[in-house]
Amino acid sequence: MATIFSRIVAGEIPCYKIAEDERFFAFLDINPLAKGHTLVIPKQEVDYLFDLDDEVLGAMQVFAKRVAVAIKKAFPCLKVGQAVLGLEVPHAHIHLVPMQSEKDMLFSNPKLQLSPEEFAEVQRKIVEAME
Ligand code: AMP
Repeated sequence: MATIFSRIVAGEIPCYKIAEDERFFAFLDINPLAKGHTLVIPKQEVDYLFDLDDEVLGAMQVFAKRVAVAIKKAFPCLKVGQAVLGLEVPHAHIHLVPMQSEKDMLFSNPKLQLSPEEFAEVQRKIVEAME
């Protein structure tokens, strides 16, 4: 059975898409730690990030860099933090989170509750910053 993230890539489940190429896809995390929290995934269905081929992992990191640069433009922050957990969804993904301090990377923090309009606004800002 396809993972929830493969179903997002296929358009079967809605998302706030940020970027896509032949191999990778980026969209807003639905339970964000901060405005701009984005997930980057390979379209290839692999559970564990570090099981990806070296070349694919490298290309995914370069794709994530483009997204991170846009996040920082759209949501000025100290740095964009990167994390890999993968404890919930068995489809490799990189979390990109705008940080003002170390505490912003604590996944035990309460998540933001954003309205659809707020998510769409976050999406628009990052997509515009990618152009
Ligand atoms: P983890 O696998 O531990 O890295 O956590 C999975 C992440 O995926 C969590 O931050 C969830 O909020 C996020 N997530 C799960 N389902 C969706 C979805 N349908 N759209 C966007 N983000 C999601």
